[in-house]
Amino acid sequence: PAQLKDGALAVRFESVSFNYGGEDSETSVLRNVSFELAPGRVLGLLGRTGSGKSTLARLLVRFYDATDGTVRIGGEDVREVALSQLRGRIAMVSQNIQLFQATVRDNLTLYNRSIPDDRLTRVLSELGLASWLAALGNGLDTMLASGGSGLSAGEAQLLAFARAFLSDPSLVILDEASSRLDPATESHIEKAIDKLLSGRTAIIIAHRLTTIKRADDILILDAGSVVESGLRTKL
Ligand code: ATP
Ligand code: MG
Repeated sequence: PAQLKDGALAVRFESVSFNYGGEDSETSVLRNVSFELAPGRVLGLLGRTGSGKSTLARLLVRFYDATDGTVRIGGEDVREVALSQLRGRIAMVSQNIQLFQATVRDNLTLYNRSIPDDRLTRVLSELGLASWLAALGNGLDTMLASGGSGLSAGEAQLLAFARAFLSDPSLVILDEASSRLDPATESHIEKAIDKLLSGRTAIIIAHRLTTIKRADDILILDAGSVVESGLRTKL
């Protein structure tokens, strides 16, 4: 398999088409999508609901493979990179946060035992979750319920950011939830995004204007096609 270089990674889509039904399906969710994102830059991915934004993100982590064309990361075809390496280098903070029935620690580290507890508690307190953690009966050993039931939407999102930080990714994909959060959570998330994006390549599917303002480049999808792409005029 191909080896990814260290550090921030470039992303390149070369005439990528995709449909969930496979090659002979008639409705393409992505149509001939091409763009290039240089290492360390932030791409704002915009488009109305159903335009294919989350689908594009899923191709990068190979939840699905392109029906046609090539998806490249760090210059390598994603299909040539070992799946463990690919997913180890990309952090996806998605609309639906995947929490499972396990301890807070295991939910955050995904069983990476080399991450020390004090690093976990530091990241949680940086995200404003110190009092949440303190209120748990067993701290990092507290079991979370599958699907994160018992957590507020804001807490679940902040935990997803914590998990993303801890994996020290080279590419961040942020599929921002459109739901409104309370101002305190919002401000913790703003800080979390700043910190998470610093020094990394990022694709942000943005709903909040404050998030869109962070983008260096913009790509707009409409019904799976790129309708606009280019450098954002700095506000
Ligand atoms: P939103 O802004 O609402 O999150 P989106 O731009 O992320 O929308 P996608 O989730 O990529 O849109 O969906 C693009 C199209 O693909 C939609 O028509 C959707 O119904 C379809 N789709 C998404 N996931 C699947 C799936 N697992 N199987 C079949 N079709 C799907
Ligand atoms: Mg989506």
